[in-house]
Amino acid sequence: MDKFISVAIDGPAGAGKSTIARRVARELGYLYVDTGAIYRTVGYHMSLMGIGPKDRDGIERCIDDVNIQIDYQDDGIQHMILNGQDVTELIRTPEMSKMASGVAAQSCVRDYLLDMQRSLARTHNVVMDGRDIGTVVLPQATVKVFLTASAEVRADRRFKELTAKGEQVKYEDVYVDIVKRDEQDMNRKIAPLKCADDAEVLDCSQLSIDQVVAEMKAIIRKKASSHE
Ligand code: C5P
Repeated sequence: MDKFISVAIDGPAGAGKSTIARRVARELGYLYVDTGAIYRTVGYHMSLMGIGPKDRDGIERCIDDVNIQIDYQDDGIQHMILNGQDVTELIRTPEMSKMASGVAAQSCVRDYLLDMQRSLARTHNVVMDGRDIGTVVLPQATVKVFLTASAEVRADRRFKELTAKGEQVKYEDVYVDIVKRDEQDMNRKIAPLKCADDAEVLDCSQLSIDQVVAEMKAIIRKKASSHE
């Protein structure tokens, strides 16, 4: 049995994984790992290099130049440092969502990032969110949750989040982006987004953040109590 507890939270874009995972981690005193931010950082690097999300040769050529550090500062935010530059804010755009989803379909990118994610779980109690945490990254995770919500609810939340940041976006475009990203993430050959057989499914379409956090903590308490 592993020494540390790992909570794997997977699910489609905009289901609220990071909001929930961050809060649950803070309340339990675990490390929160947002793996989407890592893929976004790789996507950002490729866009800086002028490499498109489907350019496999270009991505393979440049992946070794990607030096990512995760810096947990006092503000509680997971800062992403790419080759010495803090890109935490720069990766949070609709463009970088698409870039991330594109580069995430490349096997060289997934292989490159696997050990970074696993080593965090080897050395800390973690709440890790992503698309393939329960299926590929941490198949032996203590707790697995698949967090989902209807596409309309997810697009509505993402739309509000972006407009609150002052971005000029249309709801229809946000909706289409979410549905396309789900399709791309679910249908890629390597590590597609899917619910692990042993994950608990939590549909949060009709639940408040507080309710989902409470539900999640109850699931963790139940599973972690049998973890020695
Ligand atoms: O979670 P977030 O929306 O930030 O993720 C951005 C993209 O990164 C996803 O659409 C997905 O393609 C990719 N990703 C992944 N595996 C993970 C986390 C994210 O493929 N574990």
